[in-house]
Amino acid sequence: MIKIYNTLTGHLDEFKPIKEKEVSMYVCGPTVYNFIHIGNTRPAVFFDTVRRYFEYRGYKVNYVQNFTDVDDKMINKANEENITVKEVADRYIKAYFEDTSKLNLKEEGMTRPKATDNIDGMIEIISSLIEKGYAYESNGDVYFEVEKYKDGYGELSKQKIEDLKSGARIDISEIKKSAIDFALWKASKPNEPSWDSPWGKGRPGWHIECSAMSKKYLGDSFDIHGGGQDLIFPHHENEIAQSKCGCGGTYARYWMHNGYININGEKMSKSGSFVLLRQILEKFEGRVIRLFILGAHYRKPMEFSDFELNQAKSSLERIENTLKRIKELNRESFVGENNLVELLKFKEEMEKNFIEAMDEDFNTAQALGYVFELIKATNKAIDEGNTSTDGFKVIDEVYNYLVMIMEEVLGVKLKLEAEVNNISAELIEFILELRRNARAEKNWELSDKIRDRLLEMGIQIKDGKDKTTWTM
Ligand SMILES: [Zn+2]
Repeated sequence: MIKIYNTLTGHLDEFKPIKEKEVSMYVCGPTVYNFIHIGNTRPAVFFDTVRRYFEYRGYKVNYVQNFTDVDDKMINKANEENITVKEVADRYIKAYFEDTSKLNLKEEGMTRPKATDNIDGMIEIISSLIEKGYAYESNGDVYFEVEKYKDGYGELSKQKIEDLKSGARIDISEIKKSAIDFALWKASKPNEPSWDSPWGKGRPGWHIECSAMSKKYLGDSFDIHGGGQDLIFPHHENEIAQSKCGCGGTYARYWMHNGYININGEKMSKSGSFVLLRQILEKFEGRVIRLFILGAHYRKPMEFSDFELNQAKSSLERIENTLKRIKELNRESFVGENNLVELLKFKEEMEKNFIEAMDEDFNTAQALGYVFELIKATNKAIDEGNTSTDGFKVIDEVYNYLVMIMEEVLGVKLKLEAEVNNISAELIEFILELRRNARAEKNWELSDKIRDRLLEMGIQIKDGKDKTTWTM
């Protein structure tokens, strides 16, 4: 039984999907006005792991994560650089895929809609809200009238309308009926992208984008909505108001929010020092970053530093070293029958514990703890192995289990034999490219030196008409 800490109810709830053995899940994606930072990386990795775990437990997952490609930040960036909003979006969506390709996010079967492709759906919900009396037009803008949804508003962020009103800025322009009303549609201003609507040319507010995209791909009621905890208010609170009032349905039934990443003990957005994923990737591999993120419970704040990443790196090496030890065992002479029976029992226990930890609100930190206990027990069994039987079945079972859990469920790619060979192949191709450059510059001395040195290493190259091939 999977339990989820549901921000909506404030406690752990048993997960009961709308459709048996199926999960519909929407996670707020990045606003693509810059490269993604470590704070955006956390939900990308964590919710990918949630998806993977559901699949491991036999669910079919319908996972949607959007790109917000029109909003104030996008427009500011476009004006700053004197390019269009679409150019900003194209550049950073491309960069998003470049950067996250190192994180082993499972793209297969995933939907990544763009807000600007879904304007019609937004206009539809806004029209329905006006029709039902939840929204009003004012000078080409459309606002949601929060007072009209008194009973429900604030249920996610646990706030009262009265408190919100007394804390809100007084809007002197009087465009809005109340200071706490929020924009669904904004009349177009010069230098802004705009779309036709029943209220004139304009663009959507941020919150309505997610309401429309989740409705389109998952329907009016779906299972899980995720995002960073900074999105609870106002973004998610407003999504609920819009969707419940405009579309009916329950909207999301389970709300999951990941914690902040701190740098030097301070919340990243506060300290002003955003660390970009691409900067981290210059020093650490994506799989190390992934393991680092999974090393903490998702709802807890995380401290980000090189020290923490180096720890993740050595943890990963510990796993790989054990797996390499298994591969290098001499199958003729090794095998400890008794301790392998124990190891098998231990592995089965750890397998159960792993599931229990993950079932309890996706406690990846604890689940990884069991992986390391199994690593320790495996090393011990190898150290003690001496008699000879066919106990290799056990040790192979442990090997296959560890690879499956790390790579498929936690999504952390391991560097085992084949991977190293891939890298070698890439390196040789790279050296040949350097040699091609040398030849283009008629630097025959360097070109011959590369050929001779490769030959010394057992790599034979052959210059063809348009291509150089190599064999080992
Ligand atoms: Zn959203």
